[in-house]
Amino acid sequence: MLIDGYGRRVNYLRVSVTERCNFRCQYCMPEKPFSWVPQENLLDFNELFKFIKIAIDEGVDKIRLTGGEPLLRANLDEFVKMIHDYAPNIDLAITTNGYLLSEMAKSLKDAGLKRLNISLDSLKPAIAAQIAQKNVLGKVLDGIDRAIELDLRVKINMVPLKGINDSEILDILEYCKDRDIQVRFIEYMENSHANSEISGMHGREILESIKERYTIHRLGREGSSPSYNYQIEENGYIFGLIDPHKHDFCESCNRIRLTAEGHLIPCLYFDEAQSIAEAVRNNDIDRASAILAEVLRDKPKENRWSESDNEGSNRAFYETGG
Ligand code: SAM
Ligand code: SF4
Repeated sequence: MLIDGYGRRVNYLRVSVTERCNFRCQYCMPEKPFSWVPQENLLDFNELFKFIKIAIDEGVDKIRLTGGEPLLRANLDEFVKMIHDYAPNIDLAITTNGYLLSEMAKSLKDAGLKRLNISLDSLKPAIAAQIAQKNVLGKVLDGIDRAIELDLRVKINMVPLKGINDSEILDILEYCKDRDIQVRFIEYMENSHANSEISGMHGREILESIKERYTIHRLGREGSSPSYNYQIEENGYIFGLIDPHKHDFCESCNRIRLTAEGHLIPCLYFDEAQSIAEAVRNNDIDRASAILAEVLRDKPKENRWSESDNEGSNRAFYETGG
């Protein structure tokens, strides 16, 4: 079992399979980075899988593939199958912007994928295009439809931004309710890579928008998830709110992150990381396990997206996978 320096059990690994993306979201990667990680520095799926096996053997039972845009990485379905065949009961999920999903959902499902989180920030083509800086909405909606049709379990992520998509909170909620899928509203997290002119809605303001139409009750958190669930009294629909500025979920944080070049990151906010690249390339499983133990020992107590000291993070979300 993996236990960190504060006694928290870590059973959730998020793997960013690429930092590259086909969108340029204002809050994440508004401009193409000065340089991408060179291809030869990326771990291939066999190398990533060596570390994933260690993590699973040590008790990780939840894995999420993310990015950048994970569906851009060639043969992602084969990687899903490798993990699924090794541990069929693992909770294996992908977070995607949905753009390539209508073409890829079937092969991912056949490979063993059960769950998908899809980002959807607007139902208006022009606003979706303003946020992603590309005309994306039609393909994203097709991807969501295809995933639902294939019986994949779908959740939607929305990041409400002031003056951009803040008037669409109820529209997105209704869209998800009508399809019987959960939406999770995510507070914008300040970071030095985002467009400095945008500002996010506070969790409290997001709830206020929903209360304009509905009466809502706070239910609590699902396990160690950073998402708080709320239920609408009038129709029973349950939605989630992720408000990291409170960082009250840090005390039960159960996750670590692995990047495509092999950096093992104990907390999304902090720059600290250790590389397992050399160890897995040399097939040195003991060394990779030792690095995992060190990273867990040094996992910080809490993030720093506090209300008062809101500097934001230097880490790009597209590197760590959010
Ligand atoms: N490209 C995929 C996508 O957009 O779903 C996966 C990677 S993306 C980094 C993962 C999640 O992080 C998305 O739901 C995205 O909306 C969220 N995200 C990115 N930057 C964020 C920020 N600054 N604040 C809050 N959420 C952010
Ligand atoms: Fe790409 Fe996802 Fe970041 Fe948008 S949020 S730029 S889709 S990685």
